[in-house]
Amino acid sequence: MSRRTLTLDDRLHRYLLDHSLREHPEQAALREATRAHPRAGMQISPEQGQLMALLVKLTGARRAIEVGVFTGYSALTVALALPDDGRLLACDVSEEFTAVGRPYWSRAGVAHRIELVLAPALNTLDARLAAGEAGGYDFAFIDADKANYDGYYERCLQLVRPGGLIALDNTLWGGRVAAEAADDDTRALQRLNRKLHGDERIDLALLPIGDGLTLARRRG
Ligand code: CA
Repeated sequence: MSRRTLTLDDRLHRYLLDHSLREHPEQAALREATRAHPRAGMQISPEQGQLMALLVKLTGARRAIEVGVFTGYSALTVALALPDDGRLLACDVSEEFTAVGRPYWSRAGVAHRIELVLAPALNTLDARLAAGEAGGYDFAFIDADKANYDGYYERCLQLVRPGGLIALDNTLWGGRVAAEAADDDTRALQRLNRKLHGDERIDLALLPIGDGLTLARRRG
């Protein structure tokens, strides 16, 4: 029995994947296509994607937000978990990166569930708030530039309904959040982790999956 989280060596990680991973063929293909990308480390792990898909279904999400699309694996994963009339507002600034994923979204038959908006995400989220969409979303995934995480979080907290869920990626940041000396991105994550810990507006869990995944459920 373990009272803390297991350290996964390669063999145990392989076992975990072999005994739980259920990827759509287009998810596997997109992951493969992204493997050679110079910034491939920005892609979430498939087991994290599967957890997020489960959370989307558990919350009965119909409307979701993604901040930070990269090549589109997580967007594909969330879109596959939504009902057919569900919608994912996918925010990114890179035409080049998101273009990698779009053919996979189409081949998986979920492109119509994804609304990709190429613009700074703070602007996109502010526009949705100004359009009266506060409380209109069920799920949000934040996985973009760390300096703006707090801004994305505050906007998503208004956009998701009470009971809705916000997932924030990279909150353990390769372990650097626990170190003293820190660059700006690390400091931004340290500040946000401290804030979330004491934030009475949410229920909270920080999972040591991938690079750290914080789950924040908006309280009523
Ligand atoms: Ca990430």
